Amino acid sequence: MNPNAVIAIHGGAGTILRASMSASAEADYHAALHAVLSAGQRVLADGGSALDAVSEAVRLLEDCPLFNAGRGAVYTAAGTHELDAAIMDGSTLDAGAICCVTRVRNPILAARRVLERSEHVLFTGAGAEAFAAAQGLEFVEPEYFHTEARHRQWQLARGQKRAMLDHDGATLASAPSSSDDDPTPHEPIDPNRKFGTVGAVALDQHGHIAAATSTGGVTNKQVGRVGDTPLIGAGCYADDATCAVSTTGSGEMFMRMVAAYDVAAQMAYRNVSLEEAAQDVVMNRLPKIDGRGGLIAVDARGNVTLPFNTEGMYRGFARIGESPVTAIYR
Ligand code: ASP
Repeated sequence: MNPNAVIAIHGGAGTILRASMSASAEADYHAALHAVLSAGQRVLADGGSALDAVSEAVRLLEDCPLFNAGRGAVYTAAGTHELDAAIMDGSTLDAGAICCVTRVRNPILAARRVLERSEHVLFTGAGAEAFAAAQGLEFVEPEYFHTEARHRQWQLARGQKRAMLDHDGATLASAPSSSDDDPTPHEPIDPNRKFGTVGAVALDQHGHIAAATSTGGVTNKQVGRVGDTPLIGAGCYADDATCAVSTTGSGEMFMRMVAAYDVAAQMAYRNVSLEEAAQDVVMNRLPKIDGRGGLIAVDARGNVTLPFNTEGMYRGFARIGESPVTAIYR
C-alpha cells in the first residue's frame, strides 16, 4: 500500500486579488475547496482508485456554482453554455473526453463513461450527448447552468467584444490585440468576480495516478470553440510512469504548448523532477506565448506541485489522515 496517497484540486487561475475579494467570498471558496478535498480524501482512504477520487472531486466542483464547470459555467457569445471535460487513468493510459455539450449535468461523468465504455476517446456536441443519453446519464435544461454572476460577466465581455478567461477577463489569442479603439485589453472585466475551470489529480494507495478537468470554457467564446480542457495532453494527462496533470488558463496557449503532456515528457526525456518540469512549463514555456494560468500535478511517489503564473489560483491538496490545505493567492 502506498502511504503517500494524495489528492489535489484547482478551481481556476487568473487575476484573483486579495484586495478585490470580500472576506465572505474568500471563506466560501475555502469552504468549497475544503469540502471537495475531504470527499476525495475519503475515496482514497477507503482504498478507492485515483480515477474514482478525481471523478468524484470534479463532479462536486461541477455541482458547485462558484466554479466555471457544470452549474455556474460561463456563457458563449450566443448566450448559451457549452461544456468540455476529460479524464485519464495513469495506470492504463485509458482516456475519455467530451466537448460542446449543452445539457449533460455532469460532463465529467460522461467523459468517464467514454473512458470506460467506448472504443473512442473524444466525442463532440450532438454525438457526445447521444452517447451520454445512451449511458443513462442525467440531463438538465440549459437554465440549470445559469447563474446571475456569470450572466453579468457575459454582458461585460459582450460589451468589450471578446472572449475572456472567466476569472479575469484577460484577452485570449483569438481576440484582437491592443488597438486605438481598444486601449484596455488586459483589464479585468469584473474585478469582484473570479471563477474557474476545475480539475483534480490524485495518487491512490495502490500506487496509481489519474487526472480530470472540466470547464465551461471562456466567457463570450464563439459557439463551437473548444479549448485545452477536453484535449488529452493539453488540459489533462496521466501516466503512472511520470505524472498526472490538470491545467487551467488561456486554453489556446495550453493547446499550442501541449502543456499537460509537456510536464510528463520533460520528466521522461529530461529525467527532471515533477517540480522542475511543472515550473518550466508554467513559468518559462507558457509565458513565451503569453500563456496565463497554472496547473496541478502529482507523481506516483506522492510529490505534489501547484504552480501558476497569474495572481492567484483556487487550489488545495489533501493527504490521507491530514487536514486539507487550501489556498487562493500567490
Ligand atoms: N482553460 C479553459 C479553456 O480555455 C479556461 C479556464 O481554465 O478557465 O477553456
